[in-house]
Amino acid sequence: MRAFVSSIWRHPPPDLAIRTERCLAAAAEHWKGNERARIFFRADDIAVPGSRFARLLEIFSRHRVPLCLAVVPAWLTPPRWQVLKEAGKDSASLWCWHQHGWRHANHERQGKKQEFGPARSRRRLQRDIQHGRQRLEKLMGTRFYPVFTPPWNRCDARTLTVLEKLGYAGVSRSAGSRPAPPAGLPGFDVTVDLHTRRETAAGSGWNNLLGELFRTISAGSGGIMIHHQRMNHAAFDFLDLLLKMISSHRKLQPVSFKDLADNPGPP
Ligand SMILES: [Zn+2]
Repeated sequence: MRAFVSSIWRHPPPDLAIRTERCLAAAAEHWKGNERARIFFRADDIAVPGSRFARLLEIFSRHRVPLCLAVVPAWLTPPRWQVLKEAGKDSASLWCWHQHGWRHANHERQGKKQEFGPARSRRRLQRDIQHGRQRLEKLMGTRFYPVFTPPWNRCDARTLTVLEKLGYAGVSRSAGSRPAPPAGLPGFDVTVDLHTRRETAAGSGWNNLLGELFRTISAGSGGIMIHHQRMNHAAFDFLDLLLKMISSHRKLQPVSFKDLADNPGPP
């Protein structure tokens, strides 16, 4: 089955580079903080190696930009982990391998998809979180970093409480997600969606995407979400360009979850 490619990547505008550069410049001008604006990148649905995964790591590695990789525990096997690890071995310090659910399954009978939503008991939610963490720790050892990205960017309040109780360093969802995390669990929320956009018209998709990028930088922090299975050549070319622009900009600082957890910054 071919993964769905969003309309913006099937129809990238010819002036995309200049529009992106202008967007970053205007947003950086808008950001009045004393520190550089902190941007993280998060790639979801990681576990199965392939040419797209290798290309993704090559781009981040070349620009020396950290990448937070959300791994689905039940999809990861020892042979797969060997290949993933090998693909990034020359830049191991850039990767923040963390947890993406248990098996990326929807358990809700109605409403939005959730793996960690109201349909299941707290005991089952906690069991899946612990199974996932144990599996990743067993395979990855100290490379695993305890941040939880719930599938589809959503989970319920009980899940957040369990994560806090189990000592996770943070949870990563979409900006404005409810309920808010408890005081002891930082939220590292994504604010830009590169590859799972639903706009049918590429033009409005581009306006919305650049708007997300502008608001992220002008607010001083945020995260950019990646789905490599849905990337075509245009999407890879843009990512290359974006990393080049962000990593060389004097007012922007690419960071990982670990950087955010170790140095929370102003409230
Ligand atoms: Zn996912």
